[in-house]
Amino acid sequence: MSAIQRILNVDAAIVGGGIAGLWLLARLRERGYGALLIESERLGAGQTICAQGIVHGGAKYSLHGQVSRSAEAVAGMPALWRRCLRGEDPIDLRGARLLAEHQHLWTTGAPISRLAAFFASKLMHGRMDKVADAEGAHAVPVALRHPAFRGTVYRLDEPVLEVASVLAAFAERYRDAIARSQGPVTLKADGTITLHCAGYPQQVLRPAVTVFTAGAGNIGLPWVAQQLRPLHMVLARGVNLPGPLYAHCLGASDLPRLTVTSHYDAGGRLVWYLGGGLAEEGIKRDRHEQIRAARRELSALLPWVDWNPVEFATFTIQRAEAQQPDGGRPAGPSVSRDRRVIAAWPTKLALAPLLAEQIEEVLRSLDVRPRPTDLRALTGWPRPEIAVYPWDRDDLEWS
Ligand SMILES: Cc1cc2nc3c(=O)[nH]c(=O)nc-3n(C[C@H](O)[C@H](O)[C@H](O)COP(=O)(O)OP(=O)(O)OC[C@H]3O[C@@H](n4cnc5c(N)ncnc54)[C@H](O)[C@@H]3O)c2cc1C
Repeated sequence: MSAIQRILNVDAAIVGGGIAGLWLLARLRERGYGALLIESERLGAGQTICAQGIVHGGAKYSLHGQVSRSAEAVAGMPALWRRCLRGEDPIDLRGARLLAEHQHLWTTGAPISRLAAFFASKLMHGRMDKVADAEGAHAVPVALRHPAFRGTVYRLDEPVLEVASVLAAFAERYRDAIARSQGPVTLKADGTITLHCAGYPQQVLRPAVTVFTAGAGNIGLPWVAQQLRPLHMVLARGVNLPGPLYAHCLGASDLPRLTVTSHYDAGGRLVWYLGGGLAEEGIKRDRHEQIRAARRELSALLPWVDWNPVEFATFTIQRAEAQQPDGGRPAGPSVSRDRRVIAAWPTKLALAPLLAEQIEEVLRSLDVRPRPTDLRALTGWPRPEIAVYPWDRDDLEWS
């Protein structure tokens, strides 16, 4: 152990640099709190870099015929994110980019799919519009423009983020307040945190409050009740992909049958990222079965595309959330607390702003007041890089 130890007093130590930790850091810093974020891997390394980037406006939660609590919580998020992206909010995300202004929703010709869309459109009044014939064929995503297409296309008020650019915008703006630690951060019984990094003198933090936004890593707190819900995501790439598509396909249930977002890999190739029902149900399938299921689903939904030359890869990932009695998706963000330690889950990337607001309220209730903090002791301390997108990982097998 190094002989030199420095003590740094901060208002809030934030453990974990996914979207929840970064948004919280930005909010607290803009309110004048001395907040410091610590990440042991890369920014976004857990769930965030694997997110499809959709800023849900509630449509997905309204498909079963009633406006749920989830739908109400998320309704304001697209407008808030757009304000941040335009630099019209204290959380300034002007460096971040959108991949698409809107996510679409399409029905197949099946009556049950049309019916679900009818109910969703009534409930989502103003946030979900039918793409009218009068707007011309160009309003329909290229992939769905085919004489054999029998469904209806809706435009949702749901922008799609380029997630890495969001992480980079935060990293750049709050660089002085983001530190890398070697190995997962743990909290000592006396409430201090020791920051380690090879070649640097240890740094001891004494936070007034510690917030774990560590995703699945929140389980490191003995009192935390967390649930993990797995997804088996699919990636598709190849010149035959019919252009970028950002859309949910509606089936019979309250979960989209398929959710497609589109991305470009480091080599500039278009990649379709497939989630929704395919990924939820896919946890029962191994890699080969999941690829077969994806091919079947795409051939059924977009039969005018030749899927044979398209390459596929899959991976599984856990969604980390506060434990629910029925094991289902929580209605919104969750915060739990043991004395001056908080564990937090946004539930959705889109809900990180709501989570940060809730945590700031907890800080106020604990009488933690913003204090100017001098972070110069960390000048030169290593900063975490941005995580690698799934489609750029070199451990994925494509076939
Ligand atoms: C496949 C998939 C698709 C999704 N798509 C969407 C979507 O389109 N829209 C949407 O709104 N939501 C989406 N979500 C949900 C969303 O991604 C998550 O709700 C959100 O990213 C969770 O963010 P987080 O910051 O809480 O956790 P994470 O992103 O998991 O971040 C936790 C961070 O903490 C770090 N960490 C862990 N333990 C420690 C420790 N002890 N010390 C230091 N650091 C630690 C990790 O390295 C990681 O960087 C999706 C989720 C998945 C899995």
